[in-house]
Amino acid sequence: MNYFDYNATHPLLPEARQAWLEAAGQYWANPSSVSGPASRARLHLAECREIWANHFRCRPENVVFTAGATEATNAILAHVARKAPAEARVLLSPFEHPAVIEPALAHFGGRVDFLPQDDAGAVDPGKAEALLEGGGYVLGCLMAANNETGLLQPVARMAKLCQRHRCPLLVDAAQWIGKMPPAQELQADYLTISGHKFGGPRGSGVLILSDCATGFRGRRGGGQEQGRHAGTENVEAISALTAALKAQPSAGWKQSGTDAFMTTLEGAIYRVIGGHQARLPNTLSLLLPRYRATRWLPRLEKHGYIVSTGAACATGKESPSHVLKALGLSDEEASRVIRISGGPETDEALWLGLRAALDTVLAELDDDDEARGLVTVIDPDAL
Ligand code: PLP
Repeated sequence: MNYFDYNATHPLLPEARQAWLEAAGQYWANPSSVSGPASRARLHLAECREIWANHFRCRPENVVFTAGATEATNAILAHVARKAPAEARVLLSPFEHPAVIEPALAHFGGRVDFLPQDDAGAVDPGKAEALLEGGGYVLGCLMAANNETGLLQPVARMAKLCQRHRCPLLVDAAQWIGKMPPAQELQADYLTISGHKFGGPRGSGVLILSDCATGFRGRRGGGQEQGRHAGTENVEAISALTAALKAQPSAGWKQSGTDAFMTTLEGAIYRVIGGHQARLPNTLSLLLPRYRATRWLPRLEKHGYIVSTGAACATGKESPSHVLKALGLSDEEASRVIRISGGPETDEALWLGLRAALDTVLAELDDDDEARGLVTVIDPDAL
């Protein structure tokens, strides 16, 4: 089976599995206790923290281990809302993941503003500046790369703007880590990372704080994570997610397969959302002809290719993707979009195999509907 749904979940990497098992065997004690085994677990936790700190060139104290990106974004929005004056507003890109939009709406309700976007599917920092100048914002949120379209967002420019207007910035980097080379442009007051998007375990993640955001307090309870995020650390998951980070190719994931796939689309009836705009190396959102994506998916799987409709977490929802709507697609068009997301090793041959399978499935669907009398295919020779 050829898996093209890495943006939903990357299979657990062997390195991560190995690290998980070793941690379960060696670092099982509670890292907050005082015994010998506990101090070994504590030491291992510190080593993992150091690796993340080196990756982001931050201080180890600014690394907070979490139970995934959704948990972190919820904790951040709750923290910001707790400290904010009653009239405070937050500024979001229209492409944010529900993990950001939903808690923002829950805490700030009508005081959530959406950033304007340009025609290319990225937010327009120029227009964001006008909003920020008005003042009153206690948080800006801009994801590094969109999970559905793969389109990259101007995080570095947004970070400068937010800094100038003293507005803290939350960057959801769930889809960036691993796929893209380590980057300086990911500057944020709160940077959220999800373990299972790059081969770590589900329910694991990291929050990187800027020096300005060290007053962050997430879950309440014991004094773990320097009192910032209470709860006994999941040492196995932390160990595995750190091993997954270390196993990433230093130059990011391969781009050649998506390039080869895109080349075959010249003049074809499939359209890539966002065209040739800068995007993740592994992700394409494709507008398909004639039939709803939910009809394509089982047939593609039968031919050996697993893809998804929009975002995995939206699968089964009747409402069209808010990301595709923000990009100007109608509800009907949005229902015909599939998300294709390859892995670090997905090569050109696999991408081209998927391309051929699309044509096969289209022919099957046409035949199917013709047989059911839903479409009439006129034989030109019979006229
Ligand atoms: N942000 C983005 C961009 C995502 O793609 C996802 C997962 O789909 C999340 C946040 C949520 O991550 P997690 O599953 O770790 O809660």
